[in-house]
Amino acid sequence: MLSEQVQNDFPFFNNTNRDLVYLDNAATTQKPQAVIEAIRTAYVEHSFNVHRSVYTAAQQTTDEYEAVRAKVARFINATSSEQIIFTKGTTDGINLVANGYFKHHLHPGDEIVVAISEHHSNLLPWLQLAKTNGLKIRYIELASNGRLNLAQARQVVNTKTKLVAIAAVSNVLGTINPVVELSRLAHQHHAQLLVDAAQAAPELKMDVAKWDADWVVWSAHKMLGPTGVGILYGKQQRLAQLVPEQLGGEMVDAVSRDSFTTQPLPWRLEAGTPNIAGVIGFGAALDYLNQIGMQSIQNDCQQLGQLIYDELTSIDGVEVYGPTKRDTGIVTFNIASIHSHDVASALDLNQIAVRAGYHCAEPLMKALNTNGAVRASAYFYNSIDDAQRLINAVKSTKEFFI
Ligand code: PLP
Repeated sequence: MLSEQVQNDFPFFNNTNRDLVYLDNAATTQKPQAVIEAIRTAYVEHSFNVHRSVYTAAQQTTDEYEAVRAKVARFINATSSEQIIFTKGTTDGINLVANGYFKHHLHPGDEIVVAISEHHSNLLPWLQLAKTNGLKIRYIELASNGRLNLAQARQVVNTKTKLVAIAAVSNVLGTINPVVELSRLAHQHHAQLLVDAAQAAPELKMDVAKWDADWVVWSAHKMLGPTGVGILYGKQQRLAQLVPEQLGGEMVDAVSRDSFTTQPLPWRLEAGTPNIAGVIGFGAALDYLNQIGMQSIQNDCQQLGQLIYDELTSIDGVEVYGPTKRDTGIVTFNIASIHSHDVASALDLNQIAVRAGYHCAEPLMKALNTNGAVRASAYFYNSIDDAQRLINAVKSTKEFFI
C-alpha cells in the first residue's frame, strides 16, 4: 500500500503524533513536507504581492501564482486557466455562485434540486435563495441500497429545475454519486449542474469535461493543501455572468470619479490581495498528488474503506451507513445506541481520531433515522494497521459500554 512509501513525507506522523491513528481526513488532511516547504519558501524567500509591482522578484511571484492556476486547470481537465478562480474554500465558492449568479437569474416558481445527503455548505445557500427569490428546493432521496435514487431523481428534475447542486462524493456515506447521469438529466431540462467536489477532489481523478459541469467547487485543505484556499471552476459563459461579490483592488481595470470597469476573467472575481503563499502551497500539493497518481490514491482509499466496512459490519450491534460495496475511504457508523460523541471520546482514549455528530448533514441524519454518527475517513497515507487499530478499539468500546 502507498502508506509504506509515503508516511515519512508527512512531518505530522514523525513528530508528536507518531502514535495517533488519524482517521479524520474528510475533515482535513495532513500536509506533506513539500507543501510546508513551498509555503515556508513563499514567505521566507519571496514574500511579494502579485499582479502589481514591476520589479523582477514580484513578477516571479505573480508567475508562480498564475502557474498554479494553470496546474489546477490541467488537474481537472479544464480547457482554460481563465476558468479557475481562487476562493477561500468550498463554502466560499458555493456562496459566490449562489449570490453572484443564481440570485440574479432565478425567479419565483423556479426549482433547485439537491441530494438529501448534501453538506450544509451545499444546502444553506440554496435554502436562503429559496427565501429571497421565491424558489422551491427539491430533494433526491436515497434508494434502499444506500445510493442516490436515480429513478426518483428523474421525477424530481423537471422543466422548472434551474440548478442541480450535488456532491460528487458524500461526506457521510462515502458514495460516489452519479454525476454524469445527473448532469445529463439537468441539461436535458436546460438546468445547470453544480458539483461540490470537496470530498471527490482528494480521492478521485476529476474531469470537468466528462462531468459537463457548469460549476465545480472544492477546498485545498482536504487534499494536502493549506486551509483558506479553494477553487471555483465555471464554464466560461457562466463565469462571464457571475457578478463580483467583492469589489476593490486587483479586480478593477479603470476607475473614474463615478464609475469603474473590471479586469477580464479570472481576476475580475479575485478582489484584493489573494492567499498567495496558500495558492503556492496548493500547487505543491497538486504536484505531490500527481506524482503519487490519483488512480493509486483512489484504489488505496477504496480498499481501506472496504476493509473498515467489512470488519465493522461483522461486529454485532454496529450499524454502518451506505452501500456494501465501498467507493472511498469514508465509513460512517454507530455502535448500538451509544451516542456518537461517547464513541469518538472512547476512540480518542485509544489514540484514534475520528469525527462524530451530524457531519454538517442534518437532513441526511434524519433520513437515516439517527441523531448523529461516527465517521472514520481514511486517506492514502493510512495503513491497514490503522484500520485494524480502529476495529479493535471499536470492539473494546462496545464491550466497555454494553
Ligand atoms: N462540502 C462537502 C461535501 C464537505 O465535506 C465539506 C467539508 O467538510 C464542505 C462542503 C465544506 O468545505 P469547507 O469547510 O472547506 O468550505
